[in-house]
Amino acid sequence: MPTYKAPVDDVMFLIEDVFHLERYANLPGFADASADVITAILGEAGKFCEQVLTPLNRIGDRDGCRRHGDGRVTTPPGFRDAFRALAAGGWIGMSAPVEFGGQGLPGLMTEIVLEFLGSANMAFAMYAGLTQGAIAALLAHGSAEQKAIYVPKMVGGQWTGTMNLTEPHCGTDLGLLRTKAVKQTDGRYAITGTKIFISAGEHDLADNIVHLVLARIEGAPPGVKGLSLFVVPKLLPSPDGSPGAPNGVSCGAIEEKMGIHGNATCVMNFDGAIGSLVGEPNRGLNAMFTMMNSARLGVGVQGLAISEVAYQNAVIYAKDRLQGRALTGPKYPDRPADPLIVHPDVRRTLMTIRSFNEAARALIVYTALQHDVAQRADDARERQAADDFMGLLTPVIKGVLTDTGFANAVMAQQIYGGHGYVTESGMDQFVRDARIAMIYEGANGIQALDLVGRKLAKDGGRAVSAFFQEIEAYLAEQDGSEAMKPYVVPLREALTHLQQATMWLARHAPASPDHAGAGASDYMHLFGLVALGYMWCRMAEAAGRTLAAGADGRAARLNAKLVTGRFFMERLLPETGAQLARLKAGAASTMELPADAF
Ligand SMILES: Cc1cc2nc3c(=O)[nH]c(=O)nc-3n(C[C@H](O)[C@H](O)[C@H](O)COP(=O)(O)OP(=O)(O)OC[C@H]3O[C@@H](n4cnc5c(N)ncnc54)[C@H](O)[C@@H]3O)c2cc1C
Repeated sequence: MPTYKAPVDDVMFLIEDVFHLERYANLPGFADASADVITAILGEAGKFCEQVLTPLNRIGDRDGCRRHGDGRVTTPPGFRDAFRALAAGGWIGMSAPVEFGGQGLPGLMTEIVLEFLGSANMAFAMYAGLTQGAIAALLAHGSAEQKAIYVPKMVGGQWTGTMNLTEPHCGTDLGLLRTKAVKQTDGRYAITGTKIFISAGEHDLADNIVHLVLARIEGAPPGVKGLSLFVVPKLLPSPDGSPGAPNGVSCGAIEEKMGIHGNATCVMNFDGAIGSLVGEPNRGLNAMFTMMNSARLGVGVQGLAISEVAYQNAVIYAKDRLQGRALTGPKYPDRPADPLIVHPDVRRTLMTIRSFNEAARALIVYTALQHDVAQRADDARERQAADDFMGLLTPVIKGVLTDTGFANAVMAQQIYGGHGYVTESGMDQFVRDARIAMIYEGANGIQALDLVGRKLAKDGGRAVSAFFQEIEAYLAEQDGSEAMKPYVVPLREALTHLQQATMWLARHAPASPDHAGAGASDYMHLFGLVALGYMWCRMAEAAGRTLAAGADGRAARLNAKLVTGRFFMERLLPETGAQLARLKAGAASTMELPADAF
């Protein structure tokens, strides 16, 4: 049976020693979030995840969700009570504005808690994560009335949220969307159509479900320019705000699927369901992007979350399982064999996962901080720069953290040998659950295209130039530091690879877009490695500084940081050279064969 321990100490190292949260004290909500307060909050969240959600993870996988004859969907045993506890603890709305019942805490805290929730029980965490995304979309684009009716209920967890984009014939290409909206005499709309694969579309965890639905108003232009966003509740709110009459929304089926069995993936039928327009007509995709960007970051966090819990269990197993002797002679001569952890190849595997996890967590915390700056800073230029960073890094975090998260789950399973393939170990669930994160919320190939095709060139390349400048300025600051050489020298080389790749794309892609398409995934992963390498430099610098200042009992952990960072620089970062070479090979051999030769 897998276990989980929330990495609160590692998060506190990032918040206090690396990113110095106190420097952000001028942002609303940050002054109340002292290190002591954050430690206490994360400690509580960690306990809930370790003690309540982790045991439910296996149950959720085994029992799954069930649709009954009358269309009701029930979640696995224990999910209802756990969701009530999650809602009562204020975890869903911890970063939501106080005026809507939230606690106004930094958004960064929500992302950190999402990692803990995702490690403990990814399928369960999605009910809360989608609700947070729907809250963000309504706060950004909803009318005052919509905000007043829906947001406080969702912040409190009495109602949950969903996102409805996908249709049977329309996944990536949302321009094909057919769901129809017809204006009624009272100004509301009747929504008709079928959506598929809707996560948390129907369940028994909340009193009402708030569907955010993309649909086409009668007579709207074809393609994505004719899409509008609607809020369509499962039960129509009564004048007193309580859930009232049933709306024309029903769950037609739930999918049998590879993983996340505890989350209901629903076919949703909208039969003249009453909805109200969110934002302007035909600007629906823009409004939905608020939810999609929040969800993309959240899905990236899922990649890290599964990688972390799979790693923790692989370490326990590697210390416990006795097989063979160390190459340099027995390490435990009194035992019949040494534990797996003595073997260099087992350590290579564990260090690969660990060095990714710690940097990925730093990247999430840093990006979430930028999100807070983008939303809460007074200065417009600061907000713009932070928003640029977020926009640029969102596809990278979604694509790289989920591709690597899945690969790491497989590697952690490998540590168990045949026992990892047997369901009892629980490692197969991590592999199955992690797989979906590479697909939903825009398949990873589409994230790579978003980065290469949109984000690089946006605003004349302002975001990517600022990203390069930030790292170059950081490297210049570290010049002359002997202690930082093992970190900054490899990062400088990797950054050069990324800059060369960016220039190559700028030169070749406009005339031959297939070059961009064929190289986009390599570029995204190259970008990700540079971003993670930058995080390792910041962590190594902070660890070295804190060690020099006395380290107050944390010396072993901080030394481990320095070693883990060196491993990343020596073993993972050199991949950027191969990625650059692949990108520069262009699209010729990829595109040459005619379709009928496949
Ligand atoms: C468990 C689960 C939960 C989900 N939850 C939700 C949800 O809550 N709400 C919701 O709306 N949807 C949801 N989805 C749908 C999900 O977001 C889509 O499956 C995903 O966006 C891909 O769409 P598709 O499956 O139609 O694949 P397609 O669009 O058919 O794509 C198939 C493959 O082709 C590639 N491809 C497509 N177009 C291009 C292109 N132009 N260039 C290069 N490559 C391309 C893609 O990268 C992909 O690998 C969920 C799906 C699953 C399985």
